[in-house]
Amino acid sequence: MLTWFPSPYPDELFYSVLCRYYLSSGIKEHNIVKRLLFGNRVGIKMATLYPNAAVHAVLSQLPEGVFDGHNVILHHTPFLYYARMYPQQEREALLDDLLQGRGKTPTHLWRTFPKGDYALRYCPLCVQEDTQIYGEPYYHVEHQIPLSSVCVRHRCRLKQIAVDNPRLALNNNFYPLGTVETAREPDMDVTPAELRVSELVWEYWKLPASISPPACNNLYQTLLNGGYMTIARQTGLNVDRAKLYAALCDYHGAETVAKGFGASITTSMMNRIKTWEQLLPDRYILIQTMLDLPTNTVFDPKPIRDKLREKIGRMAGQGGFHTLRQVAGKLHLKQYEVNAILRYYNMAPFWREEIPGKSQTARKGILRCTVDEEELEHIRQYSQEMGYHCAGSFALDCIRFVMEQASRE
Ligand SMILES: [Zn+2]
Repeated sequence: MLTWFPSPYPDELFYSVLCRYYLSSGIKEHNIVKRLLFGNRVGIKMATLYPNAAVHAVLSQLPEGVFDGHNVILHHTPFLYYARMYPQQEREALLDDLLQGRGKTPTHLWRTFPKGDYALRYCPLCVQEDTQIYGEPYYHVEHQIPLSSVCVRHRCRLKQIAVDNPRLALNNNFYPLGTVETAREPDMDVTPAELRVSELVWEYWKLPASISPPACNNLYQTLLNGGYMTIARQTGLNVDRAKLYAALCDYHGAETVAKGFGASITTSMMNRIKTWEQLLPDRYILIQTMLDLPTNTVFDPKPIRDKLREKIGRMAGQGGFHTLRQVAGKLHLKQYEVNAILRYYNMAPFWREEIPGKSQTARKGILRCTVDEEELEHIRQYSQEMGYHCAGSFALDCIRFVMEQASRE
């Protein structure tokens, strides 16, 4: 049983609390302190980004009621960032696993975690400020999430502690921030894109634990509204992936985009973004930053406007005697594109389809009207522009339209 354990500071990383325990224990040997903290589970990895059974191991050594496991996992590990895109029930199941000490890192996450020389990070100005307020510096949770590169509080670049073979070293040993060498001078040279990405990382982590992606996808809709739409004969309405990739590179720089997406945005990648099946938040955040979209809108259960649908809906509502060609012309689209859009929205065609010859057995009557040549030419031209193959079917549509209007009144 642990007789004393430090209280976490605001937003302090769980590993950081363990480091302060080590420091105050007065014991030099890391192994002995690990045994005090974890009992027979001394081999446990204690500095992973996604929390693991270490939290449960420590809390079970403390008298009951001293520490709330929920609080530790939600506020002192990046759990909520990594579990943010899960449906709420699944997130609760993940949390429950961790509280029971069964926590396993979801495989899609450990594949995306940085390897090699990635170590814990700090902000030089936070180090100064925390030392003034608390008497010692500590590691902040939000500084550790790899997509973030800037301290959102001080708007300076995060720095990494210097450790050889950091993954092994940090999991086996304690490196209290107060005892490692830290830079004093802040590096204020950060781009607005880097700052905004870091702010969104912070927001995704800080949203209430109950917030998950809603049924609608306002991020995807903003792409469609914002000029990233492409219409294909076969697959219908989609996001233009090449255009989006190029725009992201323009905004974030090619290196950042390659880190988040790889060499291109694949079809399945885009589908997972559209359906929220992409579980790591990084890609959403890179797109969201570029679109200048607030996090509230992304997680809002109320769908934003669908500009194309509204436009088509208005045209359909106006009625009149449009042909497909005329509708396409008005929308500056090709005819197959208009058909694809209607399929996408599950809308019925609202233009007059020319009925070829009607039924074979029906007897045909002839309607004749006399106009002067000049007017006839005018009518011919007009009907051609509207997509009719002859002036006669146009004239017939006009008559039907007038009669329909009259019967409606
Ligand atoms: Zn800071």
